[in-house]
Amino acid sequence: MTTPQPRPSVAAMPAYVAGKPPAERPGLVTYKLSSNENPFPPLDGVLEVAAEAAGKVNRYPDAGSTELYEALATAYRVPAEEVALSTGAVALIFQLVSAYCGPEDEVVFAWRSFEAYPIAVLAAGATAVKVQVNDDGRHDLDAMAEAITERTKVVFVCTPNNPTGTSLTQTELDAFLEKVPEQVLVVVDEAYAEFVRMDDAVDGIATYRGRENVVVLRTFSKAYGLAGFRVGYALAPAAIATTLRAMALPFGVNVVAQAAGVASLERRAELMERVDTLVVERARVVDGVRATGWDIPDAQGNFIWFAFSSADRCAEFAAAADEVGIMVRPYPPEGVRVTIGEAEANTRLIDLAGRFPRG
Ligand code: PMP
Repeated sequence: MTTPQPRPSVAAMPAYVAGKPPAERPGLVTYKLSSNENPFPPLDGVLEVAAEAAGKVNRYPDAGSTELYEALATAYRVPAEEVALSTGAVALIFQLVSAYCGPEDEVVFAWRSFEAYPIAVLAAGATAVKVQVNDDGRHDLDAMAEAITERTKVVFVCTPNNPTGTSLTQTELDAFLEKVPEQVLVVVDEAYAEFVRMDDAVDGIATYRGRENVVVLRTFSKAYGLAGFRVGYALAPAAIATTLRAMALPFGVNVVAQAAGVASLERRAELMERVDTLVVERARVVDGVRATGWDIPDAQGNFIWFAFSSADRCAEFAAAADEVGIMVRPYPPEGVRVTIGEAEANTRLIDLAGRFPRG
C-alpha cells in the first residue's frame, strides 16, 4: 500500500533536541541549566500587561503587530519596515532559508552551532555545509569564506556562538563580510547580543545598516526572559525584512507575546540590570571553573562550554551534574553546554567542575 510521503529531505531532518527539565530529587532543589533560559521571572509590570492581553484571546491578535513593530523601531532607531517579527528567532531562521534557498542551494554555517540551522536547511530541501569551529570553539571565518560556492545562498554567523559561547569581533566580522559575494545573504544570529561584554564587540545594527546582504536576528527569549511567549525579530534592509514578513505564518505572534514584548521594551533599563547580574554571575562561574584547572573558552552568552573528546565523557559529566541537581545540555561527542542560572545552581556547577576528572 502506498502512503503519502514527505520530500526525502524532510524525512532526513534531525529532530530538534530540546534541553531537558531536571529530575526531581527529594530534599534537593533542582535547576534547569539546559536551555539557555533566563532564571529571572518576567518583571511584574510585564506579567500584568500579559495577563490583561490574555483576557482578549477570543480575538485574533493584531496581524501587523503594529505596536511591537513601532516599539522595536523606536528602541533601535530604525524604520519599522526594516523589522520582521516572528514566533521566536528560530521561526525567522526557517523563513529565511525557505525564502532564499531551494534544492540546488547551499547554506554555510559553523559547527557546532545552533542546531536549528541544519533542520531549517533540510526543511527547505537545501544542502548544509558545516565548517568545523576552531579548537577554542570560535568560528573559522577563513574556512567559512572558502566554503562559499556559486550555490551558496545563505551563511549563518552565530555570535555569541551557541553552544561554544565565543563571540566574533566587529573587525573579524567586517573582514569576513568583505569576502562574501554580495548576492549571498549573511545572517548574523545575535540571540545573545545583550550578554556580550568585550572590546570591539559586534554591532549588528550598524553592520546590517551599511549593507544590502546582512540580516540580524534578535530575540525576547534570552535577555528579556520571555522564552515561553515565543517572539523574536530580524533587523534587515527593507527588501529582506519584507521577504521575511511575507514568509511568516499569518497571526503567528500571539496577542500575549505582542503585549509582553512592548511592555518589556518599555522596561528595558530594568531588564538590562538583570542582564548585568547574569554577566557578573557568568564571570564568577568562568573564573571559578578555570580556577579548578579547566580550560574553558571565553563565554559571551548566558552559558559556558565544556569541551570533551567523546560522547561517553559528555554523558558522564551530564550524569554527574544531574546527581547534584543541575540539568545540563550534552552535545555528544563535542562537549556540554551549561546555562548561567540561579546563584545556587552556578555554585554547584563550580563545585562539580572541581571534582570531575578532566582529561
Ligand atoms: N539563535 C540562537 C543562537 C539560539 O541559541 C536560539 C535559542 N536557543 C535562537 C536563535 C532561537 O531563539 P528563539 O526562537 O527562542 O527566539
